[in-house]
Amino acid sequence: MTSLELRQIHKSYGAYHALRGIDLAVEQGEFIVMVGPSGCGKSTLLKAIAGLESISSGQILIKGRDVSGQEPGDRGIAMVFQSYALYPHMTVAENMGFGLRMAKRPKAEIDAAVARAAKILRITDQLDKRPKQLSGGQRQRVAIGRAITRSPDVFLFDEPLSNLDAALRTQMRVELSGLHAELGATMVYVTHDQIEAMTMASRIVVLNRGAIEQVGSPLELYRNPDNLFVAGFLGAPRMNFFDVTVEAVSGGEARVAAPGLAPLAVRLAEGAAVAPGDRLTLGVRPENIALLSSPGEDAAIDGRVRLVEHLGRETILYVDAAPLQCVGSESGTGSLTVQIGQVTPVEAGGRVFLSIDPRDAYLFAGDGRQTVTARKPILSP
Ligand code: ADP
Repeated sequence: MTSLELRQIHKSYGAYHALRGIDLAVEQGEFIVMVGPSGCGKSTLLKAIAGLESISSGQILIKGRDVSGQEPGDRGIAMVFQSYALYPHMTVAENMGFGLRMAKRPKAEIDAAVARAAKILRITDQLDKRPKQLSGGQRQRVAIGRAITRSPDVFLFDEPLSNLDAALRTQMRVELSGLHAELGATMVYVTHDQIEAMTMASRIVVLNRGAIEQVGSPLELYRNPDNLFVAGFLGAPRMNFFDVTVEAVSGGEARVAAPGLAPLAVRLAEGAAVAPGDRLTLGVRPENIALLSSPGEDAAIDGRVRLVEHLGRETILYVDAAPLQCVGSESGTGSLTVQIGQVTPVEAGGRVFLSIDPRDAYLFAGDGRQTVTARKPILSP
């Protein structure tokens, strides 16, 4: 059943067009994560769903009801904010039961709902405390508990983990995923953090400049980005991009090359309009570039290491391979990024030979709007 449907949502602030025709259908029980860079319209869209922001045109349906003109309290949603928004003078239990008290529900029902939410969130022993006596993580649990007690049709989360430190964020990600599984509720979650999107979402919605770039499961988007924006946004370190020229097209493959990059034959999407001489963008994720122990036929790139980051379980190399330049590179220097899944003795200044498996490479049309690469299996070959 469709739990939430957005139809052609537009929002303008004066002359500024913040949302540009958003269409999305969310099924009951999905965990949708809307992700995109700052200013792309995520919060505006979430607030529009909540009814905290009006829309310029379009329709919002919750469980088939058009709620576009309804007050927030009548929409069947509950929202959790980054700032917790707890009442300092109320206890945890009072904060959690607030929505039901406002709705004039009987005391016994409120107490039962608060007790159940507290049990789910393991904060039963905190119910008599006030917000200032709690840690950040506990406060956010109370804010989530306040949403749970209202048994909404749709939970809305606006960057709820941004105020927490890294370790707590990781813990809360796991807890939120568990909560979603336990409640089986529909959740829409907004974040700029692609790791939260990758780890929690049933489906990710990538937003850019007020429009949807792509919708799909985390691994589908990671393996089969529709365009340059999605390819560059999901994945850290970021995908490397190079300007390349098509040398030949045959057997469904395009052979591309660039100064400093040995020719690479990449499988094309069926019907892709690619011809010799075309300028394309080649994309390769840092983990799909291999370090060769010696120069050989496999070497696509001959470079010099600018910087090494030893992270323990992996090593990140920033490699200069002039004349080959990485466009919009991670380090901002034109260096390409290589991620090795182990410790390597390579040092800054050392010469390296790198290979690229063309099955893990992407090609994007000149304007970056769409990929011309054949679909890839989710699991690497
Ligand atoms: P995000 O949550 O993705 O960072 P927002 O949804 O907050 O982005 O904002 C989207 C765009 O709309 C931004 O460019 C922002 O400056 C603009 N915007 C948001 N709220 C208002 C407002 N009340 N008046 C004018 N412009 C706004």
